[in-house]
Amino acid sequence: MHEVDMTRALLITLTDWWEAQPERPQVTRVHLQVGDFTCVEPVSLEFAFTAAVRGTVFASCELVIERVPFVAHCPRCEANYQPQIGEAYACPTCHLPLTGIVSGRELRIARLEYVDAHLEESLCT
Ligand SMILES: [Zn+2]
Repeated sequence: MHEVDMTRALLITLTDWWEAQPERPQVTRVHLQVGDFTCVEPVSLEFAFTAAVRGTVFASCELVIERVPFVAHCPRCEANYQPQIGEAYACPTCHLPLTGIVSGRELRIARLEYVDAHLEESLCT
């Protein structure tokens, strides 16, 4: 399953980052950019993520998915367009087959939100 592999990779990235932090902060939110051309189903990804983080330090972490539209560039029209499956991803104006992808292949962590444990401790005293 596509999303399970994605989640596994995401969790490895998160864990590597977390272990490199001396404060070991508690991650509350992960903002993930998911391009429409990755064929990743956000609902499946959320489901896989929730299952994967269970019992880890990221168990209470929320996954926030930011969709990135699939945009291509037509060199003949010198314009960007949103490719459609029904049109075989070709340029809607001149029908030149898809050549350059501007966005839509993203699958990356945009940013992390976390609570600094030390900061919280000092606020409590
Ligand atoms: Zn064109």
